[in-house]
Amino acid sequence: MRLILLGPPGAGKGTQAQRIVEKYGIPQLSTGDMLRAAIVAETEVGKRVKAVLDSGKLVSDDIVIAIVSERIDQPDCAKGFILDGFPRTLVQADATESMLAAKGLDLSVVIELRVNDKELVRRVSGRYSCASCGAVYHDTDHKPSVEGVCDKCGSTHFKRRPDDNAETMTQRLEVYYKETSPLIGYYYAKGKLKTVDGMAEMDVVTSNIEAILAAL
Ligand code: AMP
Repeated sequence: MRLILLGPPGAGKGTQAQRIVEKYGIPQLSTGDMLRAAIVAETEVGKRVKAVLDSGKLVSDDIVIAIVSERIDQPDCAKGFILDGFPRTLVQADATESMLAAKGLDLSVVIELRVNDKELVRRVSGRYSCASCGAVYHDTDHKPSVEGVCDKCGSTHFKRRPDDNAETMTQRLEVYYKETSPLIGYYYAKGKLKTVDGMAEMDVVTSNIEAILAAL
């Protein structure tokens, strides 16, 4: 199963991808996570993209296409994968198609998560994660059950993404509507698009996604 989760920042792609990983045992390929890891590791790519991520703009197509192309060749992707945050431009969508075709693979489905802007800003502004295991929390919606202690790994260290603030979010949304939302039409025309109401309760969103995957 090879699927794309499509939607603006804060739509719930990462959260839902994690649940699909647990249920189906296929990896989540988040270009945002990969780029942040490159920044922390201070690789050549990391140094080139840091300022771009901080500004909320998009990293060049060449860089992310190369990263994904290399990643999907790894053995853990043999049974499938979830693309989260990629493709984000029409150039990346075309590249994805050629990449898969060259490997004799095809795309199972593209799931669009739809959430309104006010809610996206609210979600992203309150978002933080465990500095050790990456589990994601929210100031009001989803706190750890013991204040200050990660439910998953027990760590007491948390962090916030530098781009998860209201100002950068305005830029990220603009980029989404200009560069990424055309992919909705692109995949609709190919008969690959399914849309899920991302405003619903997290568990409801998960069951709606699972129903789509079960019908494949
Ligand atoms: P995300 O974690 O998906 O919200 O991505 C964080 C940031 O990483 C974005 O605002 C972009 O700067 C960069 N990024 C992630 N994925 C891509 C992509 N597919 N194309 C270009 N830039 C990306």
